[in-house]
Amino acid sequence: MRPSNKRFFYFVSCIFGWGTILAGCTTAPQVLTISSTSDAVTPPPSGSKDYAQTLAAIASVMSRDFKLPVVDVSVTVYPSQSSYESGVVANAGRDRERLQQQLGSGAKLPSEAEFVDSLRRLAVSSSAVGNYRKVLVNDSHASRLRWQEWVRLLAHELTHSAQSELINGRLASADQWLREGFAEWVGYTVADKFGAESFAKSRQSVIDLIATARSYQTFPSLNQLARNSDWVTWLRTLGRAGTYGQALIAVDVLIEQKGIETVVDYFRLFEKVNNREKNFLTAFGETLSTFDERFSRHLGVLIGR
Ligand SMILES: [Zn+2]
Repeated sequence: MRPSNKRFFYFVSCIFGWGTILAGCTTAPQVLTISSTSDAVTPPPSGSKDYAQTLAAIASVMSRDFKLPVVDVSVTVYPSQSSYESGVVANAGRDRERLQQQLGSGAKLPSEAEFVDSLRRLAVSSSAVGNYRKVLVNDSHASRLRWQEWVRLLAHELTHSAQSELINGRLASADQWLREGFAEWVGYTVADKFGAESFAKSRQSVIDLIATARSYQTFPSLNQLARNSDWVTWLRTLGRAGTYGQALIAVDVLIEQKGIETVVDYFRLFEKVNNREKNFLTAFGETLSTFDERFSRHLGVLIGR
């Protein structure tokens, strides 16, 4: 992938899942605007897939418990795969303009056609995308998820919006495993707070999946999961255990040892300095490579080998 495309993929945020493409109906998309409040919002009853109530409750947990900003996030819920793809592509023009403004008029971006094509491929394989003050949801897939997976999906994508809000929507080269691992961590923790499976049980299930996958797969190091383009390649090759699973456990170790506020500070550092190695050292007090080696040993102990 060309460097300009790599920068683009950093910007576009993440791919949450790889679901089957489902046919949908043709009703209009639902648009909601979500902001944090200082008030506690009652979580939805177990099993309720009311987007407005659930998103407001997630935003409340994120801001009150994790100090993550949710500011005027426009959440569009598309009823069908085709309307979701159209929505993702329609947003591509504005995203490209903002990227050009950030990088300067001299920066060479992918052509509009390449840009749209990349977004369309992302839309075909994803359930939702989260970005600066914007979340797009493919309800034809999301509505088929189990309730706790649906809650995790929304919390995951709102976390990507918050990560972007921390740096005022600027382009940042934070490590992809940290971005995704933290979004996963928030997703599982919110689901726990809403009365779904406990975080401890979910974490153990992820460790079990990693142990099984590691018995027949070669896993990437965290450093190999730093770039979005590499992340996508590993995800396609290995599936979720070696990518999202490993990233969740790595971020959980950081939060347990350094505190969640340190992780939030790490993302905030990219507003001033767009340097992944320097910011990791500043936030966590050790180098990326030191943590990578330490985590690899730790994961070996967790999975019993
Ligand atoms: Zn993500």
